[in-house]
Amino acid sequence: MGLRLRLPICALLVLVTLDGCALLNRRSVQEVLALAVQDGDRELRTPMRAMRGGTRVLVFALDGVSHDNFLEAVRSGQMPRTADLMGDETDEEGIFDRAYSAADVLSVLPSSTTAAWTSTFTGEPPGETGVPGNEWFDRDAPRVHAPNPVTTDRRYQVLRSYNEDWLGKLVRVPTLYERASVRSHVSLLQIYRGADMLNIPEVEPFGTLFNAALRDVFGADSAMYRFYENVDEVSIKSLDESLYRYGMADLQVVYFPGIDLFTHIAPSPITSQRRYLEKVIDPAIGRVLDRYEEGGVLERTYVLFISDHGQTPVVPEERNALWREGDDKPPELLRKAGFRVRPRSLKIGDGDGDFQAVLAMQGGMAYVYLADRSTCPATGMRCDWRRPPRVEEDLMAVVRLFEEATRTGAHVPELKGTLDLVLARPGAAPGDDAPPFQVFDEERLVPIDTYLRQRPRPDLLDFERRLEDLATGPFGYLAGDVLLLSRMRLDEPIEDRTYFGEAHHSWHGSANRQDSRVVMVLAHTAGSGSILKDVAREALGRRPLQTKVTPLILELLDR
Ligand SMILES: [Zn+2]
Repeated sequence: MGLRLRLPICALLVLVTLDGCALLNRRSVQEVLALAVQDGDRELRTPMRAMRGGTRVLVFALDGVSHDNFLEAVRSGQMPRTADLMGDETDEEGIFDRAYSAADVLSVLPSSTTAAWTSTFTGEPPGETGVPGNEWFDRDAPRVHAPNPVTTDRRYQVLRSYNEDWLGKLVRVPTLYERASVRSHVSLLQIYRGADMLNIPEVEPFGTLFNAALRDVFGADSAMYRFYENVDEVSIKSLDESLYRYGMADLQVVYFPGIDLFTHIAPSPITSQRRYLEKVIDPAIGRVLDRYEEGGVLERTYVLFISDHGQTPVVPEERNALWREGDDKPPELLRKAGFRVRPRSLKIGDGDGDFQAVLAMQGGMAYVYLADRSTCPATGMRCDWRRPPRVEEDLMAVVRLFEEATRTGAHVPELKGTLDLVLARPGAAPGDDAPPFQVFDEERLVPIDTYLRQRPRPDLLDFERRLEDLATGPFGYLAGDVLLLSRMRLDEPIEDRTYFGEAHHSWHGSANRQDSRVVMVLAHTAGSGSILKDVAREALGRRPLQTKVTPLILELLDR
């Protein structure tokens, strides 16, 4: 590897992976070098679909930005390019001179990157898309999938997403780009199946970013801000060149991953994120808008700002981070109850092994997959994962275990008070429509609406239906047998919040408002805010979720 090596930006992205960025610290330099992605503009169709011209849609996809934070940054006057595009805010809620901002659009559950973007760009909930989180276990295979690994160090699936459209192959429904039948270009997003071109920025010169990566590997926090800033700046430079070379596609998706990575590790995550929006994202947006303007197409372009989820501030303490191995963490609890837990050291795709329980972590929630242990009672025996766990001996045993541990500290005292809710459902197996989750109320499983009638939780937004979107449907079984909700309550002190991820300054994945309310702003330089509102509300319908972004874009392309 000489100094002339050009390090693709994705190599840096996968170093940190979108939601498992802290794994970076365990990474060796060799691994850094081993991560190679084909970069530049990659034509995905031969031939590419012809440019249709006329009405275009330009999507800015901001990872990890909540609705409130985005609007506050726009209102502050510190995002002049975005504010200029949207025009002055009127007295009517959400309406600007040339834009409409919907305040009530929710992410899917879990409010985490891979599930959310997949649902956004297919228009279907996780139980239909087959992508229920950043990582999951498929008992039908059996194997772990980890497009954004949290519990594992292995990240070749991230690379394969870019090089071989590996994630696209797991998505079980048509994508927006397949449904839109117009020339579609995607910059950096992992969900690009069916598009005409994928733009993967490359980093030149090699030195700057790689040095930042090295400093990261060795744990110098000071390099972090600059590092993530570079991720988004470099990607925009590359996109700019691509726009120059290929022109403005009918549908262009511009993805900013760096802001999420940055927010996870930034002290004062909410204000730091605002600073990032102002200093990095707004100029980048301005640059793309300039290119559209110079190309004479901005006046016929709908501009859509969206995000996948927000971020909830937490404390970066080990005791609050529930993901890792250790004698005070959830895998140990399962082991103490006699379950053989799938070790993290196993290769990601390896279904071999005599494990009887698998955990997959999504920040604000975790999935526990359980075997019918009668098929594999002795060490060394491989379980029949196609069968669901037995209700009493396997499923309820684990449900009681976690409920007791969080209520009393039984078995693992450090777990006392760490969980918000323990949910479960019997009979989630491949081939059937899986049943919805129910809440364990210290005695038995009760339907979510019954439970919430007795103990109202208005902080869990649209909780029952969003969990149903995740857990039912042809691929609902992928969300596991037991679902643990960590304590990410905004009405509790930050010190009490817990999360299934490594220690960070912010996490997401929960059903709270901060994680769940996403950005949805529709703007048009020649448009009027009230007309844009009508268009957006029509597509959003009675239940505004991020799955409505796909129908909205299809509608806009038709205009
Ligand atoms: Zn994300």
